Amino acid sequence: MSDFPTQLLINGQWHDGSGAKRLAIVNPATEETFADVSSATASEIGQAVEAGQAAFESGWRDMPPGQRAELLHGLAKRIRDNVEAIAQLETRNVGKPIGDARWEVDAGAKVFEYYAGAIGHLCGQTIPVARGGFNFTLRQPMGVIAAITPWNFPFLIACWKVAPALAAGNSVVLKPASLTPLTALLLGQLAQEAGLPDGVLQVLPGAGSEAGNALATHPLVRKIGFTGSTEVGSKIMKLAADDIKRVSLELGGKSPNIVFAEADWQRAAAESPMSVFANTGQDCCARSRMFIEQPIFDDFVNQFVAATESLKVGDPTLDETQLGPMVCASQREISESFVAGAKGAGRDIRTGGDRPSERGFYLNPAVITGVETGDRAWCEEIFGPVVCLRPFTDESKMLREVNDTNYGLSGSIWSSDLSRALRVARQVESGVISINTHSSVHTEAPFGGFKRSGLGRDLGMSAMEACTEVKNIYVGE
Ligand code: NAD
Repeated sequence: MSDFPTQLLINGQWHDGSGAKRLAIVNPATEETFADVSSATASEIGQAVEAGQAAFESGWRDMPPGQRAELLHGLAKRIRDNVEAIAQLETRNVGKPIGDARWEVDAGAKVFEYYAGAIGHLCGQTIPVARGGFNFTLRQPMGVIAAITPWNFPFLIACWKVAPALAAGNSVVLKPASLTPLTALLLGQLAQEAGLPDGVLQVLPGAGSEAGNALATHPLVRKIGFTGSTEVGSKIMKLAADDIKRVSLELGGKSPNIVFAEADWQRAAAESPMSVFANTGQDCCARSRMFIEQPIFDDFVNQFVAATESLKVGDPTLDETQLGPMVCASQREISESFVAGAKGAGRDIRTGGDRPSERGFYLNPAVITGVETGDRAWCEEIFGPVVCLRPFTDESKMLREVNDTNYGLSGSIWSSDLSRALRVARQVESGVISINTHSSVHTEAPFGGFKRSGLGRDLGMSAMEACTEVKNIYVGE
């Protein structure tokens, strides 16, 4: 029916799901259903976890590191050879602009290359202890790791979860979000073509309430790597508690963008729209609360609004498009409810918040001023193209407002005074912060949140270490 996989990948074989439920996959730009995907039952999740355990024990765990690295380099190469096909499918499924999709697939290949190289650097320690003899540590793989991923960056986040876990010698059962399972299934297909042993990477789309729940509670699953909402992250942590499963959680955000008057604020005004509206605002790092120093507030807002209005919203298959549709009708309705709430409270909608076309889940990016700190749009994660801007006069008071949130994922600071920028960066309660840029996510560096934005870190060596257990060995004199 389609030229991409739509079945469940269990132990190297493609299976139609046995359950009655299917996942209807919709193109958000056209609202047309274009694929029908199997949805895993709890019993199929159980089969996959057992196959993952068998693959782990029967060779993957003990494979010489160089051989495992070669297989992961092979997978990275297959991703590179198929960038265009994967990106086109991602755009069709998520509605993201094709240029962004190409960048994300390329970044996914880099993630596999990085962890293939990191295999040779995952080392234990020799530790001098208080008595004679010899003490050292080993970093050992855990077994089966569950990867549960969201719909906003389906391919890239799957790579973030899968690559360090495989590199460390674990097997992985990947459950993508039910709205966007297609490129995760392609990743499974490419892994097979690259020669990864059966059962080492299995991909089972399915509902969170059934497949996700079954994965999070299966006794053989040693760790859950989750990216998604804070609400579901909290549920996963509770589900993991009985078995003391390890968890890493990358959750929601409500990140600040702080612009001081001495900054190159014209540049900040030009670049900041994409710090919140990229991926049509469906980004955990979206800088959706903007703090602008009072003397430049009015001029900044004017330039920011002009830059927002110049963004190209439309058909995501065109190279020039910067903002595609939102992923589905209900996500757009949530964003619209924030704009309507602000309008109802008498706030200024400076631009956007309306639908530019009848077909497709499009929403023009909305800029709101005049908000109060208790407003819903100021406090809650919107996960859509909506931003609020407030002026500030006092640095300490502004910092208290910045940190007055349960989230702590990301943020930006714009200032030409480096000591001030560093002072503020140290005080913002977030796992990631960028100065005079919005770029803050790098394959080689840890990414994750403080407070309710998460637990643990993706990327960098920390993600790979978190897929291992440390064993201490002491050899007597
Ligand atoms: P979600 O929490 O609804 O779903 C995420 C995944 O969890 C999906 O695969 C879903 O099927 C599964 N799931 C749902 N209920 C489950 C359950 N009871 N047990 C097990 N699994 C279950 O999130 P979403 O709507 O797909 O993604 C948007 C959210 O993800 C936003 O809050 C966003 O901030 C967050 N996010 C965070 C990061 C980060 O790195 N911090 C990155 C991207 C997205």
